[in-house]
Amino acid sequence: MIELSHIEKRFGDAVILRDINLLLPERSVTALIGPSGGGKSTLLRCINLLEIPQAGRLRIGDESIDFAEGRKIGWKDIRRIRLQTGMVFQNFQLFPHRTAIQNVMEGLVTVLGWPEAKARARAMELLEKVDLAHKADAWPASLSGGQQQRVAIARALAPSPRVLLCDEPTSALDPELSQEVVDVLSALAREGTTMVMATHDIRLASRIADQVVFLEAGRVVETGRGADIFSHAAEERTRRFVASIH
Ligand code: ATP
Ligand code: MG
Repeated sequence: MIELSHIEKRFGDAVILRDINLLLPERSVTALIGPSGGGKSTLLRCINLLEIPQAGRLRIGDESIDFAEGRKIGWKDIRRIRLQTGMVFQNFQLFPHRTAIQNVMEGLVTVLGWPEAKARARAMELLEKVDLAHKADAWPASLSGGQQQRVAIARALAPSPRVLLCDEPTSALDPELSQEVVDVLSALAREGTTMVMATHDIRLASRIADQVVFLEAGRVVETGRGADIFSHAAEERTRRFVASIH
Protein backbone atom coordinates (compact mmCIF):
# COMPACT_ATOMS: atom_id res chain seq x y z
CA MET A 1 0.00 0.00 0.00
CA ILE A 2 1.20 3.47 -0.85
CA GLU A 3 -0.34 6.27 1.08
CA LEU A 4 0.01 10.00 0.56
CA SER A 5 -1.39 12.10 3.37
CA HIS A 6 -1.74 15.87 3.23
CA ILE A 7 1.12 16.20 0.75
CA GLU A 8 1.93 19.76 -0.21
CA LYS A 9 4.55 20.85 -2.73
CA ARG A 10 5.58 24.40 -3.46
CA PHE A 11 8.11 25.90 -5.81
CA GLY A 12 8.90 29.29 -4.28
CA ASP A 13 5.53 30.89 -3.60
CA ALA A 14 3.67 28.75 -6.10
CA VAL A 15 1.68 25.94 -4.53
CA ILE A 16 1.86 23.06 -7.02
CA LEU A 17 0.24 20.29 -4.96
CA ARG A 18 -2.31 21.02 -2.23
CA ASP A 19 -3.36 18.61 0.47
CA ILE A 20 -3.02 15.46 -1.63
CA ASN A 21 -4.54 12.40 0.04
CA LEU A 22 -4.36 9.18 -1.94
CA LEU A 23 -4.33 5.48 -1.31
CA LEU A 24 -2.66 3.42 -3.99
CA PRO A 25 -3.44 -0.20 -3.30
CA GLU A 26 -0.84 -2.88 -3.81
CA ARG A 27 -1.12 -4.84 -7.08
CA SER A 28 -3.26 -2.16 -8.66
CA VAL A 29 -2.76 0.44 -11.36
CA THR A 30 -3.57 4.09 -10.76
CA ALA A 31 -3.74 6.53 -13.67
CA LEU A 32 -3.21 10.24 -13.02
CA ILE A 33 -5.07 12.34 -15.57
CA GLY A 34 -5.75 16.03 -15.86
CA PRO A 35 -4.85 19.24 -17.68
CA SER A 36 -1.26 20.15 -18.47
CA GLY A 37 0.41 21.82 -15.51
CA GLY A 38 -2.01 20.20 -13.06
CA GLY A 39 0.79 18.55 -11.11
CA LYS A 40 0.84 14.93 -12.36
CA SER A 41 4.61 14.77 -12.93
CA THR A 42 5.31 16.62 -9.71
CA LEU A 43 3.16 14.14 -7.81
CA LEU A 44 5.08 11.20 -9.27
CA ARG A 45 8.37 12.95 -8.44
CA CYS A 46 7.20 13.43 -4.86
CA ILE A 47 6.67 9.66 -4.56
CA ASN A 48 10.30 8.87 -5.38
CA LEU A 49 11.64 12.03 -3.77
CA LEU A 50 13.00 13.60 -6.93
CA GLU A 51 11.02 16.45 -5.37
CA ILE A 52 10.74 16.90 -1.62
CA PRO A 53 7.28 18.00 -0.42
CA GLN A 54 7.00 20.78 2.16
CA ALA A 55 4.33 19.02 4.18
CA GLY A 56 2.58 15.71 4.61
CA ARG A 57 3.49 12.09 4.92
CA LEU A 58 4.39 9.41 2.43
CA ARG A 59 4.20 5.71 3.16
CA ILE A 60 5.36 3.00 0.76
CA GLY A 61 4.89 -0.44 2.25
CA ASP A 62 6.82 -0.52 5.51
CA GLU A 63 8.72 2.70 4.84
CA SER A 64 7.35 6.09 5.70
CA ILE A 65 8.61 9.64 5.80
CA ASP A 66 7.24 12.89 7.20
CA PHE A 67 7.79 16.24 5.57
CA ALA A 68 7.75 19.61 7.25
CA GLU A 69 8.73 23.13 6.31
CA GLY A 70 12.47 23.51 6.78
CA ARG A 71 13.03 19.87 7.67
CA LYS A 72 16.04 18.59 5.81
CA ILE A 73 15.60 15.13 4.28
CA GLY A 74 18.92 13.31 4.21
CA TRP A 75 20.21 11.03 1.46
CA LYS A 76 19.66 7.95 3.63
CA ASP A 77 15.94 8.71 3.78
CA ILE A 78 15.87 9.47 0.07
CA ARG A 79 17.62 6.19 -0.71
CA ARG A 80 15.33 4.22 1.63
CA ILE A 81 12.22 5.53 -0.13
CA ARG A 82 13.63 5.62 -3.64
CA LEU A 83 14.62 1.95 -3.48
CA GLN A 84 10.91 1.16 -3.19
CA THR A 85 10.24 2.82 -6.54
CA GLY A 86 11.17 2.49 -10.20
CA MET A 87 10.56 5.34 -12.63
CA VAL A 88 9.90 5.41 -16.35
CA PHE A 89 10.09 8.78 -18.11
CA GLN A 90 8.45 10.12 -21.25
CA ASN A 91 11.78 10.36 -23.06
CA PHE A 92 13.19 7.03 -21.90
CA GLN A 93 16.41 8.57 -20.51
CA LEU A 94 18.59 5.55 -21.18
CA PHE A 95 22.33 5.95 -20.70
CA PRO A 96 23.44 6.47 -24.32
CA HIS A 97 26.90 4.97 -23.86
CA ARG A 98 25.65 1.74 -22.32
CA THR A 99 24.08 -1.16 -24.17
CA ALA A 100 20.53 -2.27 -23.39
CA ILE A 101 21.65 -4.88 -20.89
CA GLN A 102 24.18 -2.52 -19.27
CA ASN A 103 21.37 0.01 -18.80
CA VAL A 104 19.30 -2.59 -16.98
CA MET A 105 22.26 -3.81 -14.85
CA GLU A 106 23.66 -0.40 -13.95
CA GLY A 107 21.63 0.31 -10.82
CA LEU A 108 21.94 -3.25 -9.54
CA VAL A 109 25.74 -3.04 -9.67
CA THR A 110 26.38 0.58 -8.70
CA VAL A 111 23.54 1.22 -6.24
CA LEU A 112 22.83 -2.22 -4.79
CA GLY A 113 26.36 -3.60 -5.13
CA TRP A 114 25.30 -6.82 -6.84
CA PRO A 115 28.05 -8.91 -8.41
CA GLU A 116 28.24 -8.45 -12.17
CA ALA A 117 27.11 -12.01 -13.04
CA LYS A 118 24.04 -11.89 -10.82
CA ALA A 119 23.08 -8.46 -12.19
CA ARG A 120 23.53 -9.69 -15.75
CA ALA A 121 21.29 -12.71 -15.13
CA ARG A 122 18.58 -10.54 -13.59
CA ALA A 123 18.85 -8.01 -16.44
CA MET A 124 18.49 -10.78 -19.01
CA GLU A 125 15.41 -12.07 -17.24
CA LEU A 126 13.85 -8.60 -17.47
CA LEU A 127 14.82 -8.09 -21.09
CA GLU A 128 13.07 -11.38 -21.83
CA LYS A 129 10.00 -10.12 -20.03
CA VAL A 130 9.84 -7.04 -22.28
CA ASP A 131 10.63 -9.21 -25.30
CA LEU A 132 14.04 -7.69 -26.00
CA ALA A 133 16.49 -10.43 -25.07
CA HIS A 134 17.69 -10.39 -28.68
CA LYS A 135 18.65 -6.70 -28.31
CA ALA A 136 20.67 -7.11 -25.10
CA ASP A 137 23.89 -5.85 -26.68
CA ALA A 138 22.32 -3.09 -28.78
CA TRP A 139 23.07 0.59 -28.18
CA PRO A 140 20.06 2.78 -27.33
CA ALA A 141 20.48 4.88 -30.48
CA SER A 142 20.01 1.77 -32.62
CA LEU A 143 16.67 0.92 -30.95
CA SER A 144 13.22 2.23 -31.85
CA GLY A 145 11.47 4.49 -29.34
CA GLY A 146 9.20 1.63 -28.31
CA GLN A 147 12.19 -0.63 -27.76
CA GLN A 148 14.02 2.05 -25.77
CA GLN A 149 11.00 2.51 -23.56
CA ARG A 150 10.78 -1.24 -22.99
CA VAL A 151 14.47 -1.25 -21.92
CA ALA A 152 13.65 1.64 -19.59
CA ILE A 153 10.80 -0.39 -18.09
CA ALA A 154 13.14 -3.37 -17.59
CA ARG A 155 15.68 -1.05 -15.93
CA ALA A 156 13.06 0.41 -13.60
CA LEU A 157 11.89 -3.07 -12.57
CA ALA A 158 15.37 -4.54 -12.07
CA PRO A 159 15.65 -3.92 -8.31
CA SER A 160 12.09 -5.27 -7.75
CA PRO A 161 10.58 -1.98 -6.60
CA ARG A 162 7.29 -1.97 -4.77
CA VAL A 163 5.84 0.50 -7.25
CA LEU A 164 6.52 1.40 -10.86
CA LEU A 165 6.04 5.11 -11.56
CA CYS A 166 5.45 6.02 -15.21
CA ASP A 167 5.38 9.59 -16.47
CA GLU A 168 3.63 9.70 -19.87
CA PRO A 169 5.28 6.44 -20.92
CA THR A 170 3.76 6.43 -24.41
CA SER A 171 3.41 10.08 -25.34
CA ALA A 172 6.72 10.36 -27.21
CA LEU A 173 5.82 7.40 -29.39
CA ASP A 174 3.94 6.89 -32.65
CA PRO A 175 0.71 4.90 -32.21
CA GLU A 176 2.28 1.68 -33.44
CA LEU A 177 5.29 1.89 -31.10
CA SER A 178 3.05 3.10 -28.34
CA GLN A 179 1.05 -0.11 -28.66
CA GLU A 180 4.04 -2.33 -27.87
CA VAL A 181 4.67 -0.34 -24.69
CA VAL A 182 0.97 -0.52 -23.76
CA ASP A 183 1.13 -4.30 -24.25
CA VAL A 184 4.14 -4.61 -21.91
CA LEU A 185 2.50 -2.39 -19.27
CA SER A 186 -0.76 -4.35 -19.57
CA ALA A 187 1.09 -7.63 -19.05
CA LEU A 188 2.81 -6.18 -15.97
CA ALA A 189 -0.56 -5.01 -14.66
CA ARG A 190 -2.03 -8.49 -15.12
CA GLU A 191 0.90 -9.94 -13.16
CA GLY A 192 0.02 -7.63 -10.29
CA THR A 193 2.70 -4.95 -10.63
CA THR A 194 1.74 -1.89 -8.60
CA MET A 195 1.84 1.11 -10.92
CA VAL A 196 1.12 4.81 -10.87
CA MET A 197 1.02 6.40 -14.27
CA ALA A 198 0.56 9.96 -15.48
CA THR A 199 -0.99 9.83 -18.91
CA HIS A 200 -2.97 11.74 -21.52
CA ASP A 201 -3.61 8.43 -23.23
CA ILE A 202 -7.18 7.57 -22.35
CA ARG A 203 -6.92 4.29 -24.23
CA LEU A 204 -4.00 3.28 -22.00
CA ALA A 205 -5.69 4.51 -18.85
CA SER A 206 -9.00 2.82 -19.56
CA ARG A 207 -7.29 -0.41 -20.56
CA ILE A 208 -5.10 -0.90 -17.52
CA ALA A 209 -6.07 1.44 -14.69
CA ASP A 210 -8.03 0.10 -11.73
CA GLN A 211 -8.22 3.58 -10.27
CA VAL A 212 -8.21 6.95 -12.03
CA VAL A 213 -7.28 10.18 -10.25
CA PHE A 214 -8.25 13.48 -11.86
CA LEU A 215 -5.80 16.17 -10.81
CA GLU A 216 -6.36 19.82 -11.64
CA ALA A 217 -4.40 22.85 -10.45
CA GLY A 218 -2.64 20.78 -7.81
CA ARG A 219 -5.77 19.27 -6.28
CA VAL A 220 -7.39 15.88 -6.52
CA VAL A 221 -10.80 16.71 -7.96
CA GLU A 222 -12.06 13.16 -8.16
CA THR A 223 -10.92 9.57 -7.77
CA GLY A 224 -12.81 6.59 -9.11
CA ARG A 225 -12.82 3.42 -11.14
CA GLY A 226 -11.75 3.95 -14.74
CA ALA A 227 -15.11 2.84 -16.12
CA ASP A 228 -16.93 5.38 -13.92
CA ILE A 229 -14.59 8.33 -14.49
CA PHE A 230 -14.59 7.90 -18.26
CA SER A 231 -18.32 7.39 -18.68
CA HIS A 232 -20.04 9.23 -15.85
CA ALA A 233 -17.69 11.16 -13.56
CA ALA A 234 -19.34 12.73 -10.53
CA GLU A 235 -17.67 16.13 -10.98
CA GLU A 236 -18.56 18.44 -13.83
CA ARG A 237 -14.89 19.48 -14.22
CA THR A 238 -13.85 15.85 -14.67
CA ARG A 239 -16.59 15.25 -17.26
CA ARG A 240 -15.52 18.35 -19.18
CA PHE A 241 -11.88 17.25 -19.16
CA VAL A 242 -12.69 13.71 -20.28
CA ALA A 243 -14.90 15.09 -23.10
CA SER A 244 -12.08 17.42 -24.20
CA ILE A 245 -9.57 14.65 -24.75
CA HIS A 246 -11.81 12.07 -26.40
P1 ATP B 1 1.82 17.94 -18.21
O1 ATP B 1 0.49 17.27 -18.49
O2 ATP B 1 2.07 19.07 -19.14
O3 ATP B 1 2.95 16.98 -18.13
P2 ATP B 1 1.74 18.01 -15.30
O4 ATP B 1 0.36 17.75 -14.81
O5 ATP B 1 2.71 16.88 -15.29
O6 ATP B 1 1.65 18.64 -16.76
P3 ATP B 1 3.72 19.34 -13.69
O7 ATP B 1 4.84 19.14 -14.62
O8 ATP B 1 3.70 18.53 -12.45
O9 ATP B 1 2.32 19.20 -14.43
O10 ATP B 1 3.72 20.88 -13.32
C1 ATP B 1 2.83 21.43 -12.38
C2 ATP B 1 3.18 22.87 -12.16
O11 ATP B 1 4.43 22.94 -11.46
C3 ATP B 1 3.37 23.67 -13.43
O12 ATP B 1 2.81 24.94 -13.22
C4 ATP B 1 4.87 23.78 -13.57
O13 ATP B 1 5.24 24.95 -14.22
C5 ATP B 1 5.32 23.79 -12.12
N1 ATP B 1 6.67 23.24 -11.95
C6 ATP B 1 7.05 21.96 -12.19
N2 ATP B 1 8.34 21.77 -11.88
C7 ATP B 1 8.81 22.97 -11.44
C8 ATP B 1 10.08 23.43 -10.97
N3 ATP B 1 11.14 22.62 -10.87
N4 ATP B 1 10.16 24.72 -10.59
C9 ATP B 1 9.10 25.55 -10.66
N5 ATP B 1 7.87 25.18 -11.09
C10 ATP B 1 7.73 23.91 -11.47
MG1 MG C 1 3.84 15.94 -16.73
